Amino acid sequence: MTGEPTAHEGRSYLVTGGASGIGRATAEVLAARGARVAIADLDAGGARRTAAELGGHTLPVTLDVADRDSWQAAVAAVETAFGGLDGLVNNAGITRDRTLARMSDQEWRQVVDVHLRGTWLGCQAARRLLSASDAGSIVNISSSGRHGSFGQTNYAAAKAGVVGLTKTVALELARAGVRCNAVAPGAVDTPMIRDVPEPVRENWLATITLGRLARPREIAEVVAFLLSPAASYITAQVIDVNGGELHL
Ligand code: NAP
Repeated sequence: MTGEPTAHEGRSYLVTGGASGIGRATAEVLAARGARVAIADLDAGGARRTAAELGGHTLPVTLDVADRDSWQAAVAAVETAFGGLDGLVNNAGITRDRTLARMSDQEWRQVVDVHLRGTWLGCQAARRLLSASDAGSIVNISSSGRHGSFGQTNYAAAKAGVVGLTKTVALELARAGVRCNAVAPGAVDTPMIRDVPEPVRENWLATITLGRLARPREIAEVVAFLLSPAASYITAQVIDVNGGELHL
């Protein structure tokens, strides 16, 4: 040990969907490395439990990413508690799968609202504080599903949209010293995919070079790297973390 501080020591982050899956793993990695982490989730009890379990400088925040007022309140709470913000992870997500023939307006709207509008609102709400940081960074979670995913017109469109949004935010905020990137996971073993039928999972595995699902931690490590000053020359990129998906 050299006693050198970690890249995240004393920095402040907000992770949406931080009570579960990839968001929780990201909060855990960041908190373990000395960061202050706001665990922001629609599931208020889950956010509180996660913050209590992770300990360190964690702050549970109730947030509906699809609601502008909710974002204003969340960012204000973070500013009060941490005094600023160095990084934002737009990770919260839902699925409402249905084939094109059967998908309802509501199923379309819910998914696009959470993933695409929610990410846009988050970038807007956090922009001022991130611009005040000496190294502001945004990481948006897209998906390998952005290339097309059966029964997920809503999700694939939203996740493809997140890529265009990411590259545009990167262009607009570069002058303020804020980087913006996307991470696109393949299949990750989280509650989001627990109801996927076994035959579908087997089909997935046949297309993954590494022959297994990702662990949430394996996505979180890439998110943490992109947030850190070590990634200071990376912006407007989409980093695929998918075990080598063969059909892409
Ligand atoms: P997860 O375990 O289901 O966690 C998602 C979290 O987001 C939950 O705590 C959920 O709360 C919360 N959430 C839902 N709607 C919200 C809202 N409106 N505002 C704030 N929080 C909300 O999912 P995950 O697998 O970790 O997914 C995280 C991200 O990775 C998502 O964007 C997902 O699309 C993406 N991704 C996942 C996979 C995968 O295979 N798992 C692959 C590629 C990309 P509730 O439990 O109350 O709904």
